[in-house]
Amino acid sequence: MFHADRRRFLIGAAATAGLFATRATAQAPAGPFAQSPLPYAPGALEPHIDAKTMEIHHGRHHAAYVGNMNTFARDTPALGQKPIHEVLADLNSVPEAIRTGVRNNLGGHANHTMFWQIMGPGGGKPEGEVLAAIDRDLGGLDKMQADFNAAGLRVFGSGWTFITVTKDGKLAIVSKPNQDTPLMDGARALLGNDVWEHAYYLNYQNRRADYLKAWWNVVNWGEVARRYAAARAGTLTV
Ligand code: MN
Repeated sequence: MFHADRRRFLIGAAATAGLFATRATAQAPAGPFAQSPLPYAPGALEPHIDAKTMEIHHGRHHAAYVGNMNTFARDTPALGQKPIHEVLADLNSVPEAIRTGVRNNLGGHANHTMFWQIMGPGGGKPEGEVLAAIDRDLGGLDKMQADFNAAGLRVFGSGWTFITVTKDGKLAIVSKPNQDTPLMDGARALLGNDVWEHAYYLNYQNRRADYLKAWWNVVNWGEVARRYAAARAGTLTV
């Protein structure tokens, strides 16, 4: 095989294997931060979230946050030696020169790790203790979704809307700018939706309201119930 042909073959093979997904972070060290694979196929959330959006979102955006954290950890190994939620709850102990970078990239890593897990195909409906908490604290499922969507729509620019959960099981709707997370307040996210344009623009363009409404079709309520129980037990992290 001529060199050029061989190179073309290798590029094709790499593209087929999805290896280009992490090319943007190829320069970054391999650890200590790591990205879990998507727990379902990229097209599994269609028609609500398209495969291309999922591939770019997980394979480029989230991967870049992880790669950037590994670059920070090369010079500041302590970053990788504490649980992620503890670093985010104590950003003042991060060296000032990299504090904003850690806030953005580790926040992004934590938020997206949660995000992939709390979505899935055929996510069902809330029930049991989670539904009871939604009824008690957020005025029921319909009101909760309407208020959550309105909060997501009010985020100016990039950010997230979350439902936070306390150890007592109390719920609240909270929005954050950029990649900030309730973990930075020492709180916990039961679930959250990414309202950065990269989360929806290919399919919805400027129609964030449509994305927010459709997103509820892919919430994995079984995983949300697991997170609620973990929060009550004090074991919920990111
Ligand atoms: Mn995102």
